[in-house]
Amino acid sequence: MKYCSTCGHQVEQRIPEGDNRHRYVCVSCNTIHYQNPRIVAGTVPVWEDRILLCRRAIEPRYGYWTLPAGFMENAETTVEAAERETLEEALAEVIIEGLYSIIDVPHIDQVHMFYRATLKDGQFGAGEESLESRLFGLDEIPWDEISFPTVKRTLELFLTDFKNESFGVHVSDIRHPMEKNRE
Ligand SMILES: [Zn+2]
Repeated sequence: MKYCSTCGHQVEQRIPEGDNRHRYVCVSCNTIHYQNPRIVAGTVPVWEDRILLCRRAIEPRYGYWTLPAGFMENAETTVEAAERETLEEALAEVIIEGLYSIIDVPHIDQVHMFYRATLKDGQFGAGEESLESRLFGLDEIPWDEISFPTVKRTLELFLTDFKNESFGVHVSDIRHPMEKNRE
């Protein structure tokens, strides 16, 4: 950040009074511009024991397979964000079954949340950000072409839980460069 979004003057990095972290502070109007982690919300969409994955039509990870997910917008809930992303990327309407996986990714200041979901009518397609969408059997997951570590982690958890016929809520983290699970 270089300029204040309130008044347009320059910002500087300093620790505001009563705080203990460096923040961007406007040199003119003294507005403190806090920066906090962003939430990525998505689904694990299932239809007849198969998982719906989308192949990315955008960078990063163009051409790789992903669960439908994206940045939460203002004024929506995490469930709404997950439903919206699934509709946008996979043209699929889903019934949310429950929270499934929360993964903190502190080195990029993100929290990824995935909900278990069922396709409403088995219909899906490719939204603007996807080259294609496809249902994969649990033994067909393209592990070498999965887009992001949080998607891979969530799919691994899902396969294990599916075999055990028991779905919990999984809280974990992925830390750069080692993938460390705190479960
Ligand atoms: Zn300002």
